[in-house]
Amino acid sequence: MIEAKELEFPYDSLEPVIFKETFSFHHDKHYIGYVNKVNELIQHTDMKDLKLEEIVLRASSDMVYQTLFNNAAQVYNHEVYFSSLTNDPLKKEVPSFLMEQIIKDFGSFEALKAELIDKGGKLFGSGYVWLVEKLGVLKVETSSNADTPLTEGFTNVLMAIDVWEHAYYLDYQNLRASYLSKVVHECLNWAFVAQNYRKAKGE
Ligand code: MN
Repeated sequence: MIEAKELEFPYDSLEPVIFKETFSFHHDKHYIGYVNKVNELIQHTDMKDLKLEEIVLRASSDMVYQTLFNNAAQVYNHEVYFSSLTNDPLKKEVPSFLMEQIIKDFGSFEALKAELIDKGGKLFGSGYVWLVEKLGVLKVETSSNADTPLTEGFTNVLMAIDVWEHAYYLDYQNLRASYLSKVVHECLNWAFVAQNYRKAKGE
């Protein structure tokens, strides 16, 4: 069985970028709902003792597990998203080793932020915009609905931003680009990105 994680910051601590009401619905209703559904679906199967990532990978390999995949991938995607946000000013700073790689792969930090906002804004329907590492190169990618780069080969997940409407509609209504711009400029957890990037490099 999998366990729901608590948010690492108080629900109101990212205001005015993301408001308390959005987080309470997003974490307590959407995310916990996916966790409960996964546990219901695995309880009488041989997947009941697997870790979340293992459940996502197993379920992605067979269409018979489509409902389980959707729910388990959504648990994973939300855990990456919530960890990609912070209210801690120290965690918002990009460590120099990561900044060097960002400049190498995107030209500048501003160019990376612009690509996150642009690609996340243009994604049709629901999904996520990601920063990933692929064979030594940083890339911005998008995924639709519950899909996740966790199931792609040679890909390490560094960070995610949820662009499903439930992530921003209470605060921004239909203005997804405004939500993305605020999040990208004001509350990304670059310490989390750096930690994942170190792991991706095998450090
Ligand atoms: Mn969401």
